Amino acid sequence: MMTALKQVQLRVSRLDRTLIMAAVLLSSVFPVELFPNTPPAPRGLDGQYSGKQGQVLVVKVKGEEQATEVKGTFLDRAIPFFREFRPGEPAGYIGLLGIDMQDDPGTYELAVEVKQGEQAKQLSFHVLVAKEKFAVEHLKLPKDKVDLDEKSLARWKAEQQLVQQALAENSRLKLWRSNFVEPVNGKRTGIFGSVRIMNGQARNPHNGEDIGAPMGADVAATNDGVVRLTVDHIFSGRGIFVDHGLGFYSMYFHLSEILVKDGDLVKAGQIIGKVGATGRATGPHLHWGVKLNGARVNPYALLDLPLKNGVTPPTAATVPTLETAPTPQTVPVRE
Ligand SMILES: [Zn+2]
Repeated sequence: MMTALKQVQLRVSRLDRTLIMAAVLLSSVFPVELFPNTPPAPRGLDGQYSGKQGQVLVVKVKGEEQATEVKGTFLDRAIPFFREFRPGEPAGYIGLLGIDMQDDPGTYELAVEVKQGEQAKQLSFHVLVAKEKFAVEHLKLPKDKVDLDEKSLARWKAEQQLVQQALAENSRLKLWRSNFVEPVNGKRTGIFGSVRIMNGQARNPHNGEDIGAPMGADVAATNDGVVRLTVDHIFSGRGIFVDHGLGFYSMYFHLSEILVKDGDLVKAGQIIGKVGATGRATGPHLHWGVKLNGARVNPYALLDLPLKNGVTPPTAATVPTLETAPTPQTVPVRE
């Protein structure tokens, strides 16, 4: 009697175990059916991109000609997309993704929403951020330019706030065109992103590129845009902030003269100021900075963008289109 019951119990528990095993096996084969609340499509399904800190990636969404709006999100930064027609290429949307010079290396998701009327669909890309080797600069400056007294510190904070407010609102219109202009003919110093040691103390990294040029040399706007702010600030000296639309700003610092005023419309190549050494500068040069949807990128990445009419030069900023995008593992990373 007892033995027979035990045998039944044993058989039931074996049956239980078999069922559990089957459920586990099935769940690994059909995870969505068994667990309908788990997240759907895997991330990065729609393509992969890679770039180094401070670079600009050109993200293409093709075959969505009917879409009414395309917008992306990368590391909590909004990435607006715009329509682009170029001879010999399928129509579609393009987004410029800036990798901030201090984004941590790693793989992140670029989530893109494609809207068509009431309908919306989600795309998911993987973006591999690779480390850039930035220079280390040792600078010797007057003590009062590095160790700010209370009054100067308060001034600097107020100036920072003013700039942040002016740049907080992105114009929704794309004002820039595909060809960018180098703002000054001079010697590019290559110190974008450099780690700065001032009078032996670590300071914020250099968030632009310095171009050596004589005092009074012409400074041109890199592209079409509207002058958002002109300043005379403690560190940047006389400076101009140009809004090119869709979250793209260019900055020109240490000027001796400013030839435009807030609200002016400027054209690519238009002379907007003169090279100087105002603010915290060791000599006459232009500090050229670019912010792209909140990311501090190397301004020279703009000159290399593969957006010129139908031509795609093989440069560091060139990014494979979706059809040919390699997986992050196969992308060679130059150190
Ligand atoms: Zn600089």
